[in-house]
Amino acid sequence: MKKSLHVAVCGATGAVGREMLKTLAQRNFPAASITALASSRSAGTKVPYGDDEITVKEMTKDSFKGIDLAIFSAGGSASKEFAPYAVASGCVVVDNSSAWRMDDRCPLVVPEVNPEDLEKHNGIIANPNCSTIQMLVALKPLHDAATIKRIVVSTYQAVSGTGKKGLDELETQVRRLFNMQDIETSAYPHQIAFNCLPHIDVFMDNEYTKEEMKMVNETHKMLDPNIRVTATCVRVPVFYGHSESVNIETEKKLTSAQARVLLAQAPGVQVVDNPRANLYPLAVNAAGEDEVFVGRIREDESIENGLNMWIVADNIRKGAALNAVQIAEALLERDLVRVPNPDMFM
Ligand code: NAP
Repeated sequence: MKKSLHVAVCGATGAVGREMLKTLAQRNFPAASITALASSRSAGTKVPYGDDEITVKEMTKDSFKGIDLAIFSAGGSASKEFAPYAVASGCVVVDNSSAWRMDDRCPLVVPEVNPEDLEKHNGIIANPNCSTIQMLVALKPLHDAATIKRIVVSTYQAVSGTGKKGLDELETQVRRLFNMQDIETSAYPHQIAFNCLPHIDVFMDNEYTKEEMKMVNETHKMLDPNIRVTATCVRVPVFYGHSESVNIETEKKLTSAQARVLLAQAPGVQVVDNPRANLYPLAVNAAGEDEVFVGRIREDESIENGLNMWIVADNIRKGAALNAVQIAEALLERDLVRVPNPDMFM
């Protein structure tokens, strides 16, 4: 087993890439070296890694020689273009974009949900969409106990889900509006400050957005293809932390008390559910934390076997960087940092 890896963080200057470097350092990931890659725009700039700074290099197809593991968060087109070269160099890729998620050759993994799928990787492991990750970490123990038949989810997603440009747009709009100045919109089609947009990613032929269909398709790939899923994804003026209202219908009856016990024992979950004391999960409390927080657990009185709950997590952390680093840790533990067929994606 490789005890120490040469690691590249691709998209190191972005919202997720910076969190990735922070997470690798915080968790003492056994890295023999860390290479920070981004586009030519930020080559030569520095990014923090623990107490040090690393100089960013431009990502090219030759960047992966001598690298064992590359964690990508550089957007879908950069992943499509460069991940095959990484694999061809013998480097295992963990990819945060949507580029490889539904590719049959690539397992889509949340370590608390389907770590066994790592065993069949071919060089690229996909990290799911942030909204799907937090939902499935919470629903996995309930599915194991009572078999979920249907999920109805509405999301309240932070602007950091759009990266640096989303964070900048909310901050600038709030400041300008308080100063009675006109605002501009570029990251979103409408004003995001003091507003909610029922529109994340592009609209599809079936009238859903691509973000909504990611939640459907990724749940089928990772948890169970038989679960019926319907989603409404909404962008809200919150900087960090996605919140979700989730309704499930199960085959077997689960009381809210039973669900609370199952969730309290589940890896990666923290139950915050004492409404009488005004205690329930909040985005501002989840920001910067590793756990998926679940609360407002209650039986759906409109159907026989149903539960409602409120699920919150830091979209940049468990929704992206932490999940990717946990995948890397699981690969290392299972001695799976190797590429079976370097030419598979060329
Ligand atoms: P971001 O803040 O806009 O950062 C994008 C990063 O990608 C920057 O480091 C940028 O480098 C780099 N990049 C862009 N084009 C590149 C190219 N052609 N070659 C090399 N590097 C390139 O975006 P983000 O929020 O971190 O998201 C990055 C990826 O993670 C996206 O695929 C996104 O879908 C995914 N993701 C994001 C979240 C989230 O909550 N934000 C959650 C899950 C997954 P420069 O500085 O040089 O421009």
